[in-house]
Amino acid sequence: MTAPTLAALSAGLKARQYSSVELTRAALARVERSQPQLNALVTVTAESALAAAAAADQRIAAGTAGPLTGVPMIHKDIFCTAGVRTTCGSRMLSNFVSPYDAHIVTLLADAGMVMVGKANMDEFAMGSSNETSYFGPVSNPWDTARVPGGSSGGSAAAVAARLAPLATASDTGGSIRQPAALCGVTGIKPTYGRVSRYGMIAFASSLDQAGVITVSAEDAAMTLQAMAGFDRRDSTSIDAPVPDYVAELQQPLAGLRIGILKEFFGEGLSAAIEGPVREALATWQRLGATVREVSLPSLPLSVPTYYVVAPAEASSNLARFDGVRFGHRCDKPRDLMDLYKRSRAEGFGAEVKRRIMTGTYVLSAGYYDAYYLKAQRVRSLISDDFRRAFTEVDLLLGPTTPTTAFGLGDKTSDPITMYLNDIYTIGANMAGLPAMSLPCGFADGLPVGVQLIGPHFAEGRLLAAAHAYQRETDWHLRAPPAFGADFAGEA
Ligand code: GLN
Repeated sequence: MTAPTLAALSAGLKARQYSSVELTRAALARVERSQPQLNALVTVTAESALAAAAAADQRIAAGTAGPLTGVPMIHKDIFCTAGVRTTCGSRMLSNFVSPYDAHIVTLLADAGMVMVGKANMDEFAMGSSNETSYFGPVSNPWDTARVPGGSSGGSAAAVAARLAPLATASDTGGSIRQPAALCGVTGIKPTYGRVSRYGMIAFASSLDQAGVITVSAEDAAMTLQAMAGFDRRDSTSIDAPVPDYVAELQQPLAGLRIGILKEFFGEGLSAAIEGPVREALATWQRLGATVREVSLPSLPLSVPTYYVVAPAEASSNLARFDGVRFGHRCDKPRDLMDLYKRSRAEGFGAEVKRRIMTGTYVLSAGYYDAYYLKAQRVRSLISDDFRRAFTEVDLLLGPTTPTTAFGLGDKTSDPITMYLNDIYTIGANMAGLPAMSLPCGFADGLPVGVQLIGPHFAEGRLLAAAHAYQRETDWHLRAPPAFGADFAGEA
């Protein structure tokens, strides 16, 4: 069973094999059929999608279409969409309709993409299994009794089930790569600041980064091309030219120095994951890469460091949800204090409250030095480790996750076990580095992901290495049997 890629759909539209309206109708039909099993979307935007598709068909007819024009896609519900509600997976924002579009929403709409809906996600992007959403959990299309990963679980499940060839996502500690790995799709978290976060609801601002989940690395390059770039409305956006990622896919691999992350191959990594990851490494070696082991001694501290820094920033960012300006407001408040308290108590779920309480604690006067300041220092050590490693190698390689997709409900009662899912992904966020996850095989019928991490702004190099691997293998083209038939065929 294979899957239509964005590149293939783009070519099909150009060759008039189908129209954008036909593709969009097929995508909407797939969304509708899959919803009862997957719950991948929070909102479906059928009417505006068909209007956008008709406009895309006109552009195609007029010869003014770009490579993304007319292709259906899904936005993670963390990105504000004017006129369409943006919930961030929370009761707090369950009735919030943004007056403006996030920067990347504008960019992809201008490129002619057709948004068919908004993807389900962990509440405020806090989670590793998509079970903290106010709108219910998302299921993994490879086995609907298992989690899709999180927090971009809806995005990953949607692309895996071929509801659309791409979905936007965000990554604070692994939320693009981890669900991509568990659902058998490709995910890229760009360098911190490479893609604007204007209109992306903030979780932990020094870590948050927008990116995309696709079928292939080539599709990721095509999308990133349209998403990346300076935006003066995001103060962390970087004013550097956007390279031609699609052209860079052809970079030769010969001489590429890959470092295997020693700390990622020890205790805690399941053999089922290690096998396919090592085979992927052997494929890159055959393609001309050289391999050596690299040690990043501070990396094992990334989980505890993250769970101080991220909640601290979250507690500050989420202070704005007070039931006054927007968001959920409790019924009949007695006074202002009661309004704040009850609105927040009712609007936020358990995991979000846990983060706010942890964050407030580590920032409080008596504990700031012991926790927050110390975590910031460890974070510098982790960044230094990466900087040193990249003087010796061009890319770092490791698993994306310690295990394949686990059962729904298996880890919800134990937050620490849940937090440990991000053990391999958090490092890249700590240092602001670009990183990808690619499908590299299966264990007991469940997808396995391999992770590549690059130096700042090495997206082109990452995508080229991934593309070379995907020309040799077809893991990324396999679709879950229950959702395999593709909408290009149905259109
Ligand atoms: N699982 C991590 C958390 O819950 C990372 C989430 C993310 O990257 N948004 O914080």
